[in-house]
This record gives sequence, structure tokens and C-alpha cells, in this order.
Amino acid sequence: MMDYSKILNRRIQNIPPSGIRKYFDLLGTMEDGISLGIGEPDFITPWHIRNAGIQSLEKGYTKYTPNAGLSDLRKAISDYMKRRFDLDYAPNGQILVTVGGSEGLDLAFRCILEAEDEVIIPTPSFVCYGPLASMTHGVPVYVQTKAENEFRLTAEELRGAITPKTKAVVLPFPNNPTGGIMGREHLEALAEVLRGTDIMVISDEIYAELTYGQKHFSMANIPDMYERTIVVNGFSKAYSMTGWRMGYLCAPKEIVGAMTKLHQYGIMSAPTTSQYAAIEAMKNGDGDIAQMKEEYNARRRFLLEGFRKLGLECFEPKGAFYMFPCIKSTGLTSEEFCEQLIRKERVAVIPGSAFGPGGEGFVRACYAASMKDLAEALRRIESFLNQLKK
Ligand code: PMP
Repeated sequence: MMDYSKILNRRIQNIPPSGIRKYFDLLGTMEDGISLGIGEPDFITPWHIRNAGIQSLEKGYTKYTPNAGLSDLRKAISDYMKRRFDLDYAPNGQILVTVGGSEGLDLAFRCILEAEDEVIIPTPSFVCYGPLASMTHGVPVYVQTKAENEFRLTAEELRGAITPKTKAVVLPFPNNPTGGIMGREHLEALAEVLRGTDIMVISDEIYAELTYGQKHFSMANIPDMYERTIVVNGFSKAYSMTGWRMGYLCAPKEIVGAMTKLHQYGIMSAPTTSQYAAIEAMKNGDGDIAQMKEEYNARRRFLLEGFRKLGLECFEPKGAFYMFPCIKSTGLTSEEFCEQLIRKERVAVIPGSAFGPGGEGFVRACYAASMKDLAEALRRIESFLNQLKK
């Protein structure tokens, strides 16, 4: 018998499984369950984008593309970054097409971290940053953001976390799971702290298109920050293209060069069909984004009002498609709340504690679900809260 605990890499063994999975497994056993759990748009990819993928297959485009991605796609991404965020990235050398934002994050960590380098990670946040940093022998340093600051990272919090070993800070805004965003003035304050250091910024801007009221602003737009910022973005959320696995990285050319080497050996090139669909998305997808965003916004208002009516405190999320109500008033932990809610009322939400320190006492509800489901979920949560009061 092989003893696989001796075979498997110790770092992998030490990584805990994502705290999200178990709720889907439970929900899968129920007939009329409602999921506000998974962080995925509920729309099908717009037809003209799907069709571009289909047409590329019709034409027989089934081979590898250049390692960095099709040059037409890199050009389209370059135009898009200029048009939407006023950022200049050269199609040749500063843009790398990846397998989702996920690969982009992995490459960013692997390209800059040496063993024992510290990475500052504001939490609550998406579950992958810490494990990816650890796998490359880095050390995650979690910094809890606070509800009273609308879950932004403050300059004091950043300053307090920096040590001589700090190599990078992750900026996960608009944020999953809180829906918090960072405006220009908030990023300027962080830039003040970073200026003059060698600390890099890994800016996960995958929800950049999904802000409500205030346009997304990138750290790379601030003087002296462009040279230290790796922008991670992708098509999954903005264009509802999760299954196509399309993302991209924008950064100074030395960094993109190094990331391209890793990508070349580990991936070769992102899926060709998906790249053709992505070109169409970038060129003609603005209207789709606007339409989906309008729908998310209506759901956002509806759910926010609903939670508040039920007496669950909730700050107004200005980005992504998540709501992060506080459930401390119930006396339950986040885990207990989610576990009991799914068993009693068949509604899946995710414990805030799954998203790192600072998430306890909150739950994440994803409103990328139909209005009908959201209304029914609210009815069931009300019934659950009433049972708790008895
Ligand atoms: N960053 C954040 C904040 C996310 O929420 C997600 C997906 N849930 C990703 C990155 C990765 O998305 P993808 O690989 O589909 O681009």
C-alpha cells in the first residue's frame, strides 16, 4: 500500500478545501432548493459571442494560438483597457491571455514570490489568494477589513501589515464576497503608503464592469502605481462567460514576459475557440454588459431592501453581485446560520467565515439569480428567522 501522505506535496496537503463546496452538495440532494451560493452569472453567454466561437470552429480554427493569445484579441483588450479605464497596455508585450482570471492570479503569484515573501491579503475576500500564495512558498498575511469602512482596505491597515518581507499586496476590488469597492481617493491613500517601496500590487479587477453608480477606477491609473501593478481581469463575470475560461493579465513588459514563460510551459495557449468568442465580446459586448448590469442592479436593490426589512443589517454593496448581510443578531455563527438555513428552508448562502478572517458574523448571498428565486429566498429566510425567535 502506498502511503500518499508521504507522496503528496505537504503544502497541498495543508491547504484546506474551499468552504463553499459543502453547501452545494447538500443543495444537490434537495428538490426545490434555491442557491444564492455560487458566484456565477445566471445568464447564458450572449448569442453573438457564442456564435463567434461557433464560426471559428466552422472555419476550422482548431490549432494552438501564439502563447500570449491571438494578436487580434490582445489588440482588442488593449483598445478596451484604453476605452474603459484610460490605461495604456501594448498588445505586444504587456498583455497575456490566460485560462480565466484564476490562471492570471496563479501566474502573478508564481512570477514574483520567493520563499517566505509575504503577501498582504485583505479579507473577507475570494478564497484562492492565500492557497495560491502558499503553493508558491509565499506567506499570506491576512488583514481584516471592517464593515464600518464598507470593507475597504485603509491606509492604516496596509501600513500596519507591511514588514521588510512584504512582496505584494492583493487588491480584490470590487470585492467578492462583500460587494465593497475602492474609489480613486481610497486608492490614492494606499498609493501614498506604497510609493518608494518595492511592493507590488496584484489587482483583481474581475468585477470591474459590475459597479453600481460609481465607475471602477484601477490602481494602475495612479502615478507611480502603473509600474508596480499587475491587473488581473477576465470575461467570466462581465460577459457571463465562466465556462469559456477566458482571462487576461496586463502589466509592465518585464513582468508579462516572465508570466508568458510560465504560461508557455504550463498551458501553451488559452483555448482557441474561446479566444475568438472573446474578441467578439470585447468589440461588440458593451451593450450586453449594460443590459446584465441593469438587471443585477434591480436585483441588488430588491435584495438589499428585503434583508433590511427582515432586520438583517447590511451595508449597500456597490460592486460585483454579492450581498453580505450581518447575521450576528441571530446569535448563530455564520456556519450554523448557513447549515440550519439550508436544512430547514432549502436556501444556500455561504458563511462569511469561508472568506477568511473578518467574515464571521456575515453570510454571502449572490444575487445573480432570478427575481423569482430572490423573492422566494427572502420568504424562506423570513420564515427561518421567525423560527429562531420562537
Ligand atoms: N477573482 C474573483 C474575485 C472571483 O470571484 C473569481 C471567480 N469567482 C475569479 C477571480 C476567477 O474567475 P475566472 O477564473 O472564471 O476568471
